[in-house]
Amino acid sequence: MREDEMLVTSMKRGVDLPYAALALEAAKEGARAIDEHAAEFLQSVASKGARYDLVTRADREAERAIISHLSDQSPSDGILAEETGAREGTSGLRWVIDPIDGTTNFVHGRRDFAVSVGLESRDGIFAGAVVRPAHGDWAAAEGGLIYSSLERPMTVSSVKVNEALVAVGLCHDATARAFTLQQIVPALVSHVQDWRWVGSAACDLFSVADGSLDGYVGINLSIWDIAAGIALVKAAGGHCETVRAGQVDAFLAGSPEVVTGLKRALATL
Ligand SMILES: [Mg+2]
Repeated sequence: MREDEMLVTSMKRGVDLPYAALALEAAKEGARAIDEHAAEFLQSVASKGARYDLVTRADREAERAIISHLSDQSPSDGILAEETGAREGTSGLRWVIDPIDGTTNFVHGRRDFAVSVGLESRDGIFAGAVVRPAHGDWAAAEGGLIYSSLERPMTVSSVKVNEALVAVGLCHDATARAFTLQQIVPALVSHVQDWRWVGSAACDLFSVADGSLDGYVGINLSIWDIAAGIALVKAAGGHCETVRAGQVDAFLAGSPEVVTGLKRALATL
């Protein structure tokens, strides 16, 4: 067995990363709930405002399963969850939960949706796990270490920004969506190799962390969209930063070199 394979094998146990392991357990509980309720989702799709901002019974049941697991295992921690909001804790730690990131993909039978469970302290996000049920894979990170179901170590790519494949994530606000398509994307495409619109920030950040995307630009995101992904990207050697770009906030992720290039591309707005 090669050294990197041994590292992957030993890291898969997650024994020395208790918060990453707990995030992963909780995210897998969420994925199990999604699986149980997948058949019912077509009867339970509702809009939360915009016609593309959807919630299903699977989102709610997954969130319930995640919170139940975390409340059992670490009851003094706070919770911030997309569908049910915030609960104060006493430990100084707060779990940040998106039970399904990419619900529109889920509803349409597309594979790019994820369960995202991040953990923040007063110093920011330091652990998290992303499970991609339809891909059958997962990754978890804590304090700069990362382990995953993939058969190779996770690391961000090392391409230059003009060779970078970059995903763009849209928010639900109509004005910001129009600005993104009319201003952000054109500003990016002249600096990068090409761009993709996947529809799940958690999946995009997983891909940045495994090197299959070189960068990510997410517009006016909520913290639950990116909390776990930040932990993955940073532990995979990447950098995350939010900058103002015209009338929107642009969350950037990638290698430090790619993030610098993305900032330069957006600086003209
Ligand atoms: Mg969601």
